[in-house]
Amino acid sequence: MHNVIILGSGCAGNTAAIYTARAGLKPLVVMGQEPGGQLSLTTEVENFPGFPEGINGPDLVENMKKQAERFGAEYMWGTVTEAELGKRPFRLNIDGEWQETRTLIIASGASARWLGLPNEQKLIGHGVSSCATCDGAFYKERKIMVIGGGDSAMEEATFLTRFGSEVTLVHRREQFRASKIMLDRARSNPKIKFLTNTVVEDLYDVSKNLVTGVKLRDAVTGRVWQQDVDGFFLAIGHIPNTKPFVGQIDLDPDGYIVSKGGARTNITGVFHAGDVQDRTYRQAVTAAGMGCMAAIEAERFLEAEGH
Ligand code: NAP
Repeated sequence: MHNVIILGSGCAGNTAAIYTARAGLKPLVVMGQEPGGQLSLTTEVENFPGFPEGINGPDLVENMKKQAERFGAEYMWGTVTEAELGKRPFRLNIDGEWQETRTLIIASGASARWLGLPNEQKLIGHGVSSCATCDGAFYKERKIMVIGGGDSAMEEATFLTRFGSEVTLVHRREQFRASKIMLDRARSNPKIKFLTNTVVEDLYDVSKNLVTGVKLRDAVTGRVWQQDVDGFFLAIGHIPNTKPFVGQIDLDPDGYIVSKGGARTNITGVFHAGDVQDRTYRQAVTAAGMGCMAAIEAERFLEAEGH
């Protein structure tokens, strides 16, 4: 029987692990399908406080893990496939093995949606990014492309005009999902060029380990062409990792956990932290902050129950 099981080993999960471990609760961290979370997919992180020269994303999460382990947190590889949260202790099926816990912190994050291009995954962190806030500053005076037609794409394209020599926004349809105000703002920005009805077919150049260009196709005429690009930003949505909790925890229509204040979910003793609930800020530092909140709530809950 565990006091705390933490799902996810990104900034939120690791911070929850540091706090609950220091409180002597011996948390078990289930590392999840993307160990280290989204930071493990980035290179340089320049906006996490405390690192004036910046820090490599995977190093930052690994440091957090080591910090939690120093205080007794245990980490295991695996993902939760099933959960029984109807009564306590909660039961979790972790790759076929059931574990019981008094409290649960869900910090399983949201995975960026990718296009599924042949070279996309190979170039993540080398020109391909899913986070303009994180990586925009690396593309000063460079050619930037943003993919998507929602608010995120408009926001990211507008933000990236601070850095890029030009920003091309590529969207697969003519109509936009983005709100009028965000679309108008992007449209009135002279640095943003719109390419609608346009589909990305592939990315170059894996042999250089760097994005140098894209292959595009006009969805109406079928014309195919190549375009030089240095920074390729995906803004086609995120998918929260809440599948095992469907029907048990209150989720919004897109699958994000609905917060009941602080780090609380609708189930007493189950807490949320990070991008699995937060669709607004989605930053390493905010996820870490929410991991801390969830840990403090779990600690107080266990104390009130006499554990
Ligand atoms: P979204 O609204 O789901 O938009 C995703 C966009 O990506 C859509 O235009 C979609 O195209 C496109 N897309 C999806 N899969 C694709 C694929 N395989 N290939 C090409 N294009 C693809 O996601 P979001 O923009 O991240 O926004 C999520 C939520 O957060 C929304 O509710 C949004 O309003 C909110 N948000 C608000 C703000 C703000 O107010 N400041 C900022 C960001 C996000 P189709 O349209 O063709 O499906």
